Amino acid sequence: MSSFRPLLSSPHSMMVAATTIQILIAFQVLSAPAASAQTREVTPFAVPSASPDRYMRAAAEFARQLDPTVEISYWGSETGALSRSRIEGGAVKCVLRVSAKISDALTPLNRFLSGRIDPRTQALFALSHEVGHCKLRNAFLKRVDGRAADASVLPSLAQEAAADAYGILSIERNLGEGVPIRHAVIVSRILAAAVFRDTAHATGRYVSEALRLCPYNRNDADAVQCAIATAYFTVGRISTDEQGALLALDSAPELVYELGMHRVAQTVKLYDDIAHFNAQFSGRDLSRFAFKEVSHHGDTRYIIAESRAQGDATHSLADYYGFRTGELITDDRRKLTAMRIDGDAELDWLLTLGAVILAEDGESLRKGAALR
Ligand SMILES: [Zn+2]
Repeated sequence: MSSFRPLLSSPHSMMVAATTIQILIAFQVLSAPAASAQTREVTPFAVPSASPDRYMRAAAEFARQLDPTVEISYWGSETGALSRSRIEGGAVKCVLRVSAKISDALTPLNRFLSGRIDPRTQALFALSHEVGHCKLRNAFLKRVDGRAADASVLPSLAQEAAADAYGILSIERNLGEGVPIRHAVIVSRILAAAVFRDTAHATGRYVSEALRLCPYNRNDADAVQCAIATAYFTVGRISTDEQGALLALDSAPELVYELGMHRVAQTVKLYDDIAHFNAQFSGRDLSRFAFKEVSHHGDTRYIIAESRAQGDATHSLADYYGFRTGELITDDRRKLTAMRIDGDAELDWLLTLGAVILAEDGESLRKGAALR
């Protein structure tokens, strides 16, 4: 997880490879009547997607057991995995976008997992880890007191540790404790952090200690409880590391957990309820991109995105987040790769991800201003 993607997760830093073969339908372009120039699509607009291998298919099945409403789609060119939580009415939906091949989904962790657990179990871990992110966010959004909070108040390392704990317990419950998943994940995280300097996922040490807080694994609720405990434990452990001897190093995990809970309670922002949260909240994932509306007809908007580092980022963003993309001829006869955003719900989703869109009329669309 990198700093500009605070709400999403992936098992490693993401490489954006926009090597897409773009098929232009030249005939349509050439035969267009010049007089009635208007923006139009010259390729089908679709979400970039690939077919999952058998391991990822098995893992998707497993993810649906853990969360029957989970929505899963497969990257065309990205590697890794991400999860997001989308609010629909009062419900929170878990949306996963992952690599189609297990060899890509867990890179570079799989280098250390291989030989410890088989590819199928690796795939189960990749997806149950992502579902774990969703379950943690869900627990914050649907607090027992009816209010809502954003789990990204937790440091990313705590979120990652929580997702690992949930993944481990879910696999142990389904495959039995004979599967060495716990040991494999902890050791692999420690090795990957050291070899690849992957500090964002250096969860091994925290997970190893925090699992002592999780004596029960009877059902999904126990695994969720363990994820939450692991998150608070990690916050507590980070506090003791950063601020000296608040607690002795060999303190009971329960004390570290309580310290973490106390820390989070001091900083968390509470919303009245989930509707209030949804109306107000926007993340920062997409805030570093410049979005521009190039055309707007009725409910359909065509949008392009640029980043300072990558230039045109439209296709890679669509691939990453699952927006429809294709080729467009604009009314001033430019040919562009654009994202197509249909309707208020999809626009709201883009804005929730932190996008600020310069509209055709010169106004900026942003969360909280555009739709309400
Ligand atoms: Zn993660």
